Amino acid sequence: AAPLASSDPEIAALIEKEIVRQHEGLEMIASENFVSRAVMEAAGTVFTNKYAEGYPGKRYYGGCEFADVVENIARDRAKELFGAEHVNVQPHSGSQANAAAYMSIIQPGDTLLGLDLAHGGHLTHGHKLNFSGKLYKIVGYHVRRDTEVVDYDELEALAKREMPKVIVGGGSAYPRQFDFPRMRQIADAVGAKLMVDMAHFAGLVAGGAHPSPVPYADIVTTTTHKTLRGPRSGMILSKQELAASIDRSVFPGQQGGPLVHVVAAKAVAFKEALQPDFKVYAAQVVANAKALAEALAGEGYRVISGGTDTHLLLVDVFAKGMFGSEAENALGAAGITVNKNAIPYDTNPPMKPSGVRFGTPALTTRGMKEPEMREIAAWIAEALEHRNDAGRLEQIRGRVGEMAEKFPLYDWLRA
Ligand code: PLP
Repeated sequence: AAPLASSDPEIAALIEKEIVRQHEGLEMIASENFVSRAVMEAAGTVFTNKYAEGYPGKRYYGGCEFADVVENIARDRAKELFGAEHVNVQPHSGSQANAAAYMSIIQPGDTLLGLDLAHGGHLTHGHKLNFSGKLYKIVGYHVRRDTEVVDYDELEALAKREMPKVIVGGGSAYPRQFDFPRMRQIADAVGAKLMVDMAHFAGLVAGGAHPSPVPYADIVTTTTHKTLRGPRSGMILSKQELAASIDRSVFPGQQGGPLVHVVAAKAVAFKEALQPDFKVYAAQVVANAKALAEALAGEGYRVISGGTDTHLLLVDVFAKGMFGSEAENALGAAGITVNKNAIPYDTNPPMKPSGVRFGTPALTTRGMKEPEMREIAAWIAEALEHRNDAGRLEQIRGRVGEMAEKFPLYDWLRA
């Protein structure tokens, strides 16, 4: 029973480096977060050894007596957390949750109406190289040029013209709330199912800082590792009438055995999200994003749609004379991790887009609040202004490191 450090020092050293990297920098990728010790412990357990194809009480393998209880607990907690009639906690990821969700309600060749990727949608909502774009006929709706908010009139017109089988809400780089009642109305008017992919904002819904799509949508899919702060994974919530079809689409439709250790970690994360302090967390994530947006606007940056109602914001850095890729690199050198991102109606190519996406879930987990967001915004502006000055970026990195020290991460893991 050799420990990792002696059995595989190469990988052990990289894990150590990653622990330090996560601690020393400012993680502002909107889709990332830091799980608790409890979640991490559950994910690193002997349940990784267990095959449990099927569902609790109806498995294809023996020895599932404890795996069954784990999955039932995860399901029940998720139902309570989101007020859902049915939950499937087996999808390995958000993409697999979406694949199974589509499989349960539409056939190859059917029409899917989703938010255009270039306007904030996700690959699984219809990118041509993704399974979604290959299997289904994709029609994209957009944000308005003037407000950069979803154009529901266009969405309605497209729905009436294209008669999609499913309308998909949610996305990866949309800073505003979706109008679920309006989307339900449009779906009903054309006989389409409504699916909401709340991967990005699920934690805000769980914490009461964002309206819930659950009462409006036939199916809600999510990842569990973003604002929800669980292990990397996926989940599907639905009305009871779709339960059997969704369960069949996950297994055997899309997957074999569930990752029982990850299901256990999801159960732990859901318990955490049911606690009163998760509401405080969710509200702070949004307050921090708003503070960051205001401060960056104060530094002369154009914030897409004029702000945010969620955990993320998109900033037009091209208006300040640089590509998103240059901004990502400069901020990286300053110890601030972000990702370049297209902005709506972008005229620049995907690898050199006009924007940068910022998110506050991870920094908020570390305990940072509005004053830190304002300080960070000033560093961001300074780093971008001096993006070609390695010495200046290094200097900012020093200040970033001092702030990180004040909000320590994974003390129990660091030597
Ligand atoms: N759906 C949305 C809206 C996402 O933003 C993402 C990931 O970024 C996914 C689905 C896919 O999740 P995963 O990376 O777990 O497959």
